[in-house]
Amino acid sequence: TKYVYSFGSGKADGRADMKELLGGKGANLAEMSSIGIPVPPGFTITTEVCHDYYEAGRKLPESVKPEVEAALKKVEEQVGKKFGDSSDPLLVSVRSGAALSMPGMMNTILNLGLTDASVEGLAKKTDNPRFAYDGYRRLIDMFGSTAMGVEHELFEHELSKLKDEKKVKLDTDLSAADLKELVKRYKAVYEKATGEPFPQDPKDQLWKAIMAVFNSWMGNKAVEYRRIERITGLKGTAVNVQSMVFGNTGTNSGTGVAFTRDPNTGENTFYGDYLINAQGEDVVAGIRTPEPITRLHEEMPKVYEQLMDIRQKLEKHYKEMQDIEFTVEDGTLFMLQTRTGKRTGTSAVRIAVELVKEGFIDEKAAISRVNPESLNHLLLPQLDPKSKNKPVAQGIAASPGAASGKIVLTAEAAVAHAEKHPDEPIMLVRKETSPEDVAGMHLAKGILTSTGGKASHAAVVARGWGKPCVVGCEAMKIDEKAGTITIAGKTLKVGDYLTINGSTGDVMIGQVETIDPSVSGDFATLMGWADKARKLKVRTNADTPADAAKAREFGAEGIGLCRTEHMFFGDERIVAMRKMILADDVEGRKAALAQLEPFQKKDFVGIFEAMDGLPVTIRLLDPPLHEFLPHDEKGQETVAKELGIPVQKVKDRVEQLHEFNPMLGFRGCRLPIVYPEIGDMQVRAIISAAIDVKKAGKSVLPEIMIPLIGTVAELKILKERAIKLADELIAASGVKVEYLVGTMIEIPRAALVADKVAEEAQFFSFGTNDLTQMTFGFSRDDIKSFMGTYLKEKILPVDPFQSIDVEGVGQLIEMGVKKGREGRKAKHGEHLKVGICGEHGGDPDSVAFCHKVGMDYVSCSPFRVPIARLAAAQASL
Ligand code: PEP
Ligand code: MG
Repeated sequence: TKYVYSFGSGKADGRADMKELLGGKGANLAEMSSIGIPVPPGFTITTEVCHDYYEAGRKLPESVKPEVEAALKKVEEQVGKKFGDSSDPLLVSVRSGAALSMPGMMNTILNLGLTDASVEGLAKKTDNPRFAYDGYRRLIDMFGSTAMGVEHELFEHELSKLKDEKKVKLDTDLSAADLKELVKRYKAVYEKATGEPFPQDPKDQLWKAIMAVFNSWMGNKAVEYRRIERITGLKGTAVNVQSMVFGNTGTNSGTGVAFTRDPNTGENTFYGDYLINAQGEDVVAGIRTPEPITRLHEEMPKVYEQLMDIRQKLEKHYKEMQDIEFTVEDGTLFMLQTRTGKRTGTSAVRIAVELVKEGFIDEKAAISRVNPESLNHLLLPQLDPKSKNKPVAQGIAASPGAASGKIVLTAEAAVAHAEKHPDEPIMLVRKETSPEDVAGMHLAKGILTSTGGKASHAAVVARGWGKPCVVGCEAMKIDEKAGTITIAGKTLKVGDYLTINGSTGDVMIGQVETIDPSVSGDFATLMGWADKARKLKVRTNADTPADAAKAREFGAEGIGLCRTEHMFFGDERIVAMRKMILADDVEGRKAALAQLEPFQKKDFVGIFEAMDGLPVTIRLLDPPLHEFLPHDEKGQETVAKELGIPVQKVKDRVEQLHEFNPMLGFRGCRLPIVYPEIGDMQVRAIISAAIDVKKAGKSVLPEIMIPLIGTVAELKILKERAIKLADELIAASGVKVEYLVGTMIEIPRAALVADKVAEEAQFFSFGTNDLTQMTFGFSRDDIKSFMGTYLKEKILPVDPFQSIDVEGVGQLIEMGVKKGREGRKAKHGEHLKVGICGEHGGDPDSVAFCHKVGMDYVSCSPFRVPIARLAAAQASL
């Protein structure tokens, strides 16, 4: 096996499509080099080496060594310098690079090859001892902290101390002699912490750095990032060793990062930041606030022109928006990286649509370019323009959408707060963020930092997650110790509300009203293409006319689940409902139900009208009856008074209805089997609502759905009763109303006997919430105590209540679809309509599964309808 791939001087061993082997960075460095873009020469050690390294118990394969030696020699020849040479040293950087980008998650070490001897050579050669010693002290710090586990703070401490001694404020105020002294102190720190002197053999440095990158693959930061991003199945990280170019040799040098299009809006403009006289990581680390790239046009016109050319060349070559890093060394431009740029959902949609219009890609490619989940961005709440809260400060708009939340000042505090108050929104406010903060960032509704630019860690990570973020809000002062922030002369405490608008950079004090977005422009164009491509229909779960209307705006083609229990909770309704539950006999129950019926009917009319003839699946009452009665003394007294009955009677009934396991109790079809009058009332309300709508000259398509059946007999009894009643009502009405009666498949037994069930059902809808609950035996409301551990320990790859467990629950679904279709065909000679209405109906991976098993439709909450439409289109490509 070839373990090492060289690049440089217009040639390369690798290519862009070898990401799995060379990592994203390595593959693209090779590609850039071979299409004639200036790249400092170097080589990539493959991800296979990382894999073998761990397989062998953290040992490198034998043949890596000679291959690295040979590749290093090639670099030396191309640059015309020798690695660690004492008069004119070649210096190299060592960076990680996996197949998928993991921003800032792994180690980078710069300036390798500097030693006590070569630093002198570099000082003489560049005639810049300050630069040489600054590079050396940075190497000792980076190498010490990332390769050898020395605390970075120990070095920082020496730096601050020296600055105090010299009475200077900025690092740049230190002289060459000061930095030489600092090197001495850093070396002492290093030796004290590691028990050995800082390595003076450049090869020794190189090998230790390479091992450090491989080790960082299993470091906490990287493991945590992969968990959150659900990244699995990678071989490991590659290691890129590349000759150094310096952006910090003076004012004719600099470094920057840019996107070939705006990653927030998608606009076709060059977008990025740079710093003059700075080294690579300074821009990304968010320590100095950089200049916008357009200003480079004035400061370095020739370099700017060249960058604009490269921007065009890269987009033409990759047919995709790129995220690039560059360094200018004494006026010469070098590209250090190009990769597919992370972007917001808004930007992803605009770029995909414009790339089609510009003739780079076709509609199908555009569909596949947009991550369905990222559409959340376009569906994010925006600030209500009518709200009165005025911005008190402005930062850089880093990731769009509006968010309000309670201030926390550390990622740990965010995690702690979320554990204690899972329902409270959090605003993470920091000077800057670092990879250590990802867990807390993930939990926050929004992120606000006081330093950093558009490519700072906070901005990149937030954008990837579709989280509103404002960075570089310099007007804000944070006092972590006191637990306060000061902004526009006001001091806010931890726990106070703060609002950000990630689309404009505005920061507001307090909680600001937000409004819902709509589907238009490029978004509508892309959705149109998706609709042409997909086979699955997309419905929505809605139980109010407002939700139904919203879902239709988002493209819903019907209602897949209307949960009628939500319709029993209004003020007047709950009284009638309680009367029904507390009634002594059938007559009493019927009287109470008669009070409920008009409410139900009115709700159904509203929903039918909103859906304007599209199918509406209405599920009969599902939850346990005890949910409608108060369990506390005071509530029970109120109910007793309301209904004019003794308190004891309420208490007795509550006692009677008490269940040890309500999720497996008296719910679903079990209710109307015991109390048929409940089902009758609902069927009457549904059908008479449909009759009224029909009489008003509109079309209507109700589908009555019977929940939680496990046996055919349950379904048969309820179906026959429903049909009898419905047909009588329709016959008496004088209008023709079509309707269906079907069932949910949410108990494993129902899936097992699906062929028989289908003989009695005109449609199936998989209730994957309950099906998952009952297949795993996990109470869906009680998973909090163990799911975190299960995911961390990789007992489960994902939360099965979020994404279908294909291996297990998936078998029941696949079998249910197949048997159901066969059973229906055999008995009635017709196609059984099959859909899904559990939460999974809006999860892209689950939608792909539903497509694969041949369902007719998925149904999800209104805001996930566009996500499901796109996911369904991608599944059919
Ligand atoms: C389900 O079980 O998947 C379902 C849709 O029903 P509910 O969530 O109301 O139990
Ligand atoms: Mg259910």
